[in-house]
Amino acid sequence: GESYRGDSTQVNGKKKKIRQIKELRESIAQMLLPCRRNMPEYAPYITEDGSLTAMTAQLIDGKAIAAKLRQQIAQRVAERHHQGLRTPGLAVMLVGSDPASQVYVSHKRKDCEEVGFVSKAYDMPAQTSQTDLEQLIDKLNEDPTIDGILLQLPLPAHLDASQLLERIRPDKDVDGFHPFNIGRLAQRIPLLRPCTPKGIMTLLESTGIDLHGQHAVIVGASNIVGRPMAMELLLAGSTVTVTHRFTRDLPGHVAQADIVIVAAGKPGLVKGEWIKPGAIVIDVGINRQNDGKLIGDVVFETALPRAGWITPVPGGVGPMTRACLLENTLYAAEHLHS
Ligand code: NAD
Repeated sequence: GESYRGDSTQVNGKKKKIRQIKELRESIAQMLLPCRRNMPEYAPYITEDGSLTAMTAQLIDGKAIAAKLRQQIAQRVAERHHQGLRTPGLAVMLVGSDPASQVYVSHKRKDCEEVGFVSKAYDMPAQTSQTDLEQLIDKLNEDPTIDGILLQLPLPAHLDASQLLERIRPDKDVDGFHPFNIGRLAQRIPLLRPCTPKGIMTLLESTGIDLHGQHAVIVGASNIVGRPMAMELLLAGSTVTVTHRFTRDLPGHVAQADIVIVAAGKPGLVKGEWIKPGAIVIDVGINRQNDGKLIGDVVFETALPRAGWITPVPGGVGPMTRACLLENTLYAAEHLHS
């Protein structure tokens, strides 16, 4: 209106049109308000006065949430020192020289330093025998300065990972993979909880959404992500569907989800168009492209305008998994080895 130049009849006509548009906007707002109340999936797109917001998901900043958690852990370690209590200790075992595993292990050791834990490194050659590893686990099981034992997976093919994981004492199994800890979670009395699903629960809590009754669809049914994730969400009162490589109509399942958690290790498997408007999307996948860039299992660009909340890759689930390992180690020191 301000930039309009013309005679008075044209100006009056323009003013009338502006008034009509305003009235139309107000009546649309009145129509949208009940949608905000009664159709929660559209709530993120309608403001309190009924106007429409840009349809873009809020990012769940795993990096920031994990940094805060590390800060709290570091503070608690300092308090323990003042109280004359022991420094929590984590032993990290790496067998062989898988480059990705080397990166993960170095991150875990750096995290320990940041929060003030004792970190013991056991880097062993790829040809290390099952017996040698068993003996090391037995020694660490008995070591009173060690609260957590982590065996970095995958292991070289000649080693039996399940047998070694079961040898770690359940109260030192800070990865939460031991059948005892999985069984505790299944029976609704969790002790040391698998790190990735536990971290995801913290990310879900950060949205402020009540998880009771929400329909959560998990894509992937592995022992370390999909299955324990299903148990965590059941415990939180959600209705859970677990999909996997034999599932028929994956798009149909995803389209029904209030919460979608994708851990398949397949870049771009879940398309943005499948996502129910307003859904929470947690992308666990970590896939390295030829150009070295990391991407998730969800097509981020097309999911962003439909989802209510979404985790980025990198910077979403990954940092939380690492922070939860520290949380579990502190928990073991405080409650299981005091
Ligand atoms: P996995 O290979 O053990 O399991 C993959 C699961 O996906 C299987 O259950 C399989 O049935 C399912 N799947 C495969 N193709 C599918 C399809 N087309 N439709 C539906 N389901 C399908 O993998 P994982 O160890 O659970 O890891 C999955 C991904 O998550 C990987 O990219 C891994 O790097 C990543 N990951 C990330 C973190 C983290 O902290 N961010 C932690 C663990 C794993």
